[in-house]
Amino acid sequence: MPAAIIDGKAMALKIREALTREVSDLTARGVRPGLAVVLVGQNPASQVYVRMKRKACEKAGIVSFAHDLPADASEEALLELISKLCADVSVHGILVQLPLPEHIDEMRVLEAIDPAKDVDGFHPLNVGFLGLGEPCLQPCTPAGIMELIESTGTKIEGKRACVIGRSNIVGKPVAMMLLARNATVTICHSKTPDIAQEVGRADIVVAAVGRPGFVKGEWIKPGAVVIDVGTNRLSDGSLTGDVEFAGARERARAITPAPGGVGPMTIAMLLKNTVEAATALSKG
Ligand code: NAP
Repeated sequence: MPAAIIDGKAMALKIREALTREVSDLTARGVRPGLAVVLVGQNPASQVYVRMKRKACEKAGIVSFAHDLPADASEEALLELISKLCADVSVHGILVQLPLPEHIDEMRVLEAIDPAKDVDGFHPLNVGFLGLGEPCLQPCTPAGIMELIESTGTKIEGKRACVIGRSNIVGKPVAMMLLARNATVTICHSKTPDIAQEVGRADIVVAAVGRPGFVKGEWIKPGAVVIDVGTNRLSDGSLTGDVEFAGARERARAITPAPGGVGPMTIAMLLKNTVEAATALSKG
């Protein structure tokens, strides 16, 4: 029987509806959540992501503060803006869209964000808390992936998970989260000799490689849960994932489509983090 489709769009919509109600309650209590989204330069993909994030905020009743800086903005100018946003009580979340232009030190910028307003979960303090298994603002894509896995009813504890990709924004944090839930986690990357074999052992597969159709259908262990994080643009302009969907669906128990799986959940988790930050900051 082909795998069930994990409908990230529908899940994200439900989460966003619940958050809209939460935002309305907070606002009635005098706390209107606010998210500042900072974009440096005109990277077309970043512009699309930023537009989606700002629109999603407004739909949920979250105030969206737009800060668009030119591509040649100095690191000092960006740090000065972040410092102002950190001090601004109407701003509960600060997101600096990555990647930044090459002349800007990304780590310096991420470190300048108040960890309590770090709704992307990229500040070293939040990364550290995540590694320690302590409560923190969690990175949005990995948090969304965990919700997608949980939605399948899979008991994560004791399962073998294979994460392909070790980026700081997806692979590493999702591996930490799976480990915190007592999965046995393998992380694969470009130097891993036999990824097919690693995938073939896994009950949970998370593909975050950035290569269309990298994970072959026949690699998938029958009954596995497959989360495809890949967002790859093909020459005809369409988007596709990292997993050979049709083949994988024949073997898996549940699988996300790409697009329509992880992407919508990432935005929902951003809104969730913003509401969480606003709630925490309002309590002082
Ligand atoms: P990234 O920083 O480029 O990392 C890619 C990872 O894949 C690296 O760890 C790399 O290994 C590994 N890799 C690349 N080629 C490989 C190969 N041939 N064999 C084995 N491993 C290989 O990418 P990312 O930012 O994590 O993103 C991954 C994908 O997810 C992209 O398609 C991106 O667009 C998508 N994404 C989607 C969302 C969303 O919300 N839907 C969010 C973030 C990312 P090395 O470390 O050894 O180089």
